[in-house]
Amino acid sequence: MAENKNSLINVRGVNFQNTTLDGTVDALLAGVREKRQTALYTPNSEIVQACIEAPELYEVINSAELIIPDGIGVVKAAKILGTPFGAGKIAGCEVGEAFIKRLSETEHTVFLLGGKPGVAEQAAQKLSEKYPGIKFAGTHDGYFKKEGEENDAVIAQVNESGADVLYVCLGAPAQEKWIYQNRAKLTTVNALLGLGGSLDVYAGTVKRAPKIFIRLGLEWFYRLLCEPWRFKRMLKLPKFYFGTWKHKMTKG
Ligand code: UDP
Repeated sequence: MAENKNSLINVRGVNFQNTTLDGTVDALLAGVREKRQTALYTPNSEIVQACIEAPELYEVINSAELIIPDGIGVVKAAKILGTPFGAGKIAGCEVGEAFIKRLSETEHTVFLLGGKPGVAEQAAQKLSEKYPGIKFAGTHDGYFKKEGEENDAVIAQVNESGADVLYVCLGAPAQEKWIYQNRAKLTTVNALLGLGGSLDVYAGTVKRAPKIFIRLGLEWFYRLLCEPWRFKRMLKLPKFYFGTWKHKMTKG
């Protein structure tokens, strides 16, 4: 169920919130304060295209209470479809950091799940230096079997930690599927954030694109230059873009 039905923008079947970075952080904090479990997904156009190509993924993606557009492709598509976002792209990793900042002024605790071994610990350390009041309940890398005993052990570790907030950084759509399948078993967590490679950014093992690329809407291009293996994944982008025009022409 979405937070605020009035502010939804449907982009090719995915129900995004028409919100801001601060609005997203406020909604997450309200969920934690009121003990109302809230999940945040930050799909880009690759993920929306993945839903179009495998419609069973819509149920997983649309299950989150908060879905924000973390990609210039989604923002452009909304414009093409005549329902533009007020605030444009909202970067998931910026929401994640802004939420840590807000949580550092509270007693709520955070568990970081994901990334290669050592990355979550390093992210926790760097974030603690930057936001001294933040309380981490635990960390775990993202390279475990996502079902069976190994998965149960991760769930048990999060539950025993008593964390109020869980960052799930396993890459998309693996993290959204993991949250969808496991959120009911997480007994203390009231905010779940699916944030892709954000722990790498917080840990400093991956750099975000320079501001000029972000401003020009070319963050995806910078990532392609740094990580050329993304080329195959990014083939979904032109498909999504032209498909959106076709969708507009045929559906009005
Ligand atoms: N990752 C993980 N477990 C896995 C596969 C990937 O924890 O089984 C992590 C990986 O180390 C990286 C993140 O997930 O930190 C994916 O980052 P990426 O920038 O590719 O995210 P996406 O673009 O898919 O959102």
